[in-house]
Amino acid sequence: MYFLVAYKYNNYFTEKAYICKLYMYARARMDRIEAQKRILELKAVLKENSRKYYVDNAPTMSDQEYDFLMHELEALEEAYPEFLTPDSPTQTVGSDIDAPAGENAEPLVGSDFVKRPHRYPMLSLGNTYSISEIEEFAARADKALDGPFSYSCELKFDGTAICLTYTGGTLTRALTRGDGIQGDDVTENVKHISNIPLKLKGDYPPEFEIRGEILMPYSSFEALNAEREDIGEAPFANPRNAASGSLKLGNPEEVGRRGLWCTLYHIPAQSVPFETHDEALSKAASWGLPVSEDRKICKDINDIRRYIEHWDKARKSLPYATDGIVIKINELAAQRALGYTAKSPRWAVAYKFKAEQACTELLSIDYQVGRTGAVTPVANLEPVQLGGTTVKRATLVNADQIASLDIRVGDFVYVEKGGEIIPKITGVNLDKRPPLAVPPSFPKLCPDCGTPLVRQEGEAKWFCPNTTGCPTQIKGRILHFTGRRAMNILAGDATVDQFFEAGLVRRPSDLYHINKYQLLSLEGWQERSAQRFLDSLAQSLSVPFERVLFAIGIRFVGESTARDVARHFGSIDAICAASEGQLLEVAEVGDVIAGSIYDYMHQDDNLQEIERLREAGLQFSAAAPSEALSGALEGKTIVVSGNFSISRDAMKELIAAHGGKCASGVSGNTSFLLAGTKPGPEKLQKCLKLGIPVVSEQEFRSMLPAAAGGQEAQELTLF
Ligand code: NAD
Repeated sequence: MYFLVAYKYNNYFTEKAYICKLYMYARARMDRIEAQKRILELKAVLKENSRKYYVDNAPTMSDQEYDFLMHELEALEEAYPEFLTPDSPTQTVGSDIDAPAGENAEPLVGSDFVKRPHRYPMLSLGNTYSISEIEEFAARADKALDGPFSYSCELKFDGTAICLTYTGGTLTRALTRGDGIQGDDVTENVKHISNIPLKLKGDYPPEFEIRGEILMPYSSFEALNAEREDIGEAPFANPRNAASGSLKLGNPEEVGRRGLWCTLYHIPAQSVPFETHDEALSKAASWGLPVSEDRKICKDINDIRRYIEHWDKARKSLPYATDGIVIKINELAAQRALGYTAKSPRWAVAYKFKAEQACTELLSIDYQVGRTGAVTPVANLEPVQLGGTTVKRATLVNADQIASLDIRVGDFVYVEKGGEIIPKITGVNLDKRPPLAVPPSFPKLCPDCGTPLVRQEGEAKWFCPNTTGCPTQIKGRILHFTGRRAMNILAGDATVDQFFEAGLVRRPSDLYHINKYQLLSLEGWQERSAQRFLDSLAQSLSVPFERVLFAIGIRFVGESTARDVARHFGSIDAICAASEGQLLEVAEVGDVIAGSIYDYMHQDDNLQEIERLREAGLQFSAAAPSEALSGALEGKTIVVSGNFSISRDAMKELIAAHGGKCASGVSGNTSFLLAGTKPGPEKLQKCLKLGIPVVSEQEFRSMLPAAAGGQEAQELTLF
């Protein structure tokens, strides 16, 4: 029953209130264990997708799906408050900070920016797809506030958030939202965005912050993607990802060429002496800052409704993407009175637009095999404009979806782009069905290697079982293994294809047997490229165990699951020896993941491949605890929170190696909180309350003797 509820609302229902009712019903039937499992599962899925969205700029689920899962988690946590933890995605701001995944990890693109603290936290916004929840927001504000107030209604720009600081009228700093507490310093890049003034005019305050969004207009987005496809690079999924990826480029001139654009919508009330939000923005416009003129002061819910209705249609002719409307209480005193939750202001809410639709002809269906052998039907469409971009292909998900939509080649189909990811076909216009159209027949054989496809009980997808012989699966696995977040080996699509065609690789371990002579015999390879590839192979030998576990490509084991499992068991041998029950003991591992890991570890082919990789020198166990290095932290009780340049466990070992003691919670006995990126908000609040110092990683390292891993403190104090 419960899973039926989850499935149904993911697909059809959009109203949170309705979902909550379903939950009350579901709760009566769902026992605590089941609820806990689902909560863990949801947390893992949301964390994984948050990383894909904010860090990799390559989301694989739509925003709407993500939001529904988040609402499902919120509802469950509300029903079972005993399972609510401060690190839950419902309590934290999605972070774009790209921390290297482990001790020996290579710096990744985008991780080289200096992290700086925000003067005022940069939070998220509560969101809803339902007008009735906007009414509830207005009613709550009415009840909580004395005296009259108004709303500022604004477009919700779909880009990446930025915080600018002007000192003496000059742009001095630009930070991304990061984890809300600290962001990446992208000042040099921002200086190349043409509509951001470097100098202000008029009566600006001596120093202030202003926040807004960096956007990529559709025209720049289409041009950039065309250019990327020409040179064989993967196109960006949507303008938001393109804007966010471009802002984190290492080359400010290139950022300037990407045609980015900025719109500003918020001055933190603490930094300027105004009465209303609208007054602050009007002033900002007079100083030469790009402030949206499409905002409107609304006096009541009817005004708000009219604004929403207008922009739901009018936004389609805007030159950039918007994904909703933001409704803010206009009076700054009222904003202060309402305050904030851990994640968002109580004085604002976002109304998100439902997915946009277009109708176009289905020309043909391709069947694509992925690295796991799953066969996905993909529709080739008559190109159509949707959400500002041209859509030519859309996923049909699986055979059941084709059957349930009763879809046929030649049909006119409805296409949706929820979060502007791979569009989905959501329906058929039966009035336009060609008379002779017949239902497509799902292939019986693998489109790549011709092996008969199989469909296991409970699986929605057909699979090619020829895991060791199907070229697409082999190449897909190798590509996953070499990926940036896995082993980070310099071998992308074209290189893996080339190696495969030349018979050099059939499995990831073969990569470690390729020599320079073989490389130089391949077309296009030269001494320098060959050496760079071999160097990246050599560096991959020090990639920590948790990333190796991710790289070997166990089904359903994403990065964060691999990290949890690696830390829990400590070595591949312990994982191999674990029962399904023991695997379930890992936080965030449910039945499906435990079953998948167990099966993987009980297949001879996989065990042989692990042995070959072990012989090549890969890390199959977590680093051994460090020996005592100094007494620099003798007598100190330290609480560690957030992510660091090394794993949190390695950080705790470092503390122990220097004589310090780690504690899990902040108390009067805590010497200091060692805060990395995205520290727990509750811990931070407790430190503020008790007056306990909060120390950044750099400051911490400066406390250690230089020879033992210490370094000069840099300008990076959190508070
Ligand atoms: P959000 O995008 O829903 O809202 C907050 C953001 O809105 C602010 O940070 C700001 O950047 C932006 N914004 C635009 N116009 C604004 C205006 N006029 N005033 C104030 N803010 C404005 O929240 P978020 O925390 O940035 O992102 C969470 C959302 O991201 C989720 O709700 C989901 O839709 C999406 N997401 C999707 C995936 C996925 O896999 N598809 C993963 C993670 C997050």
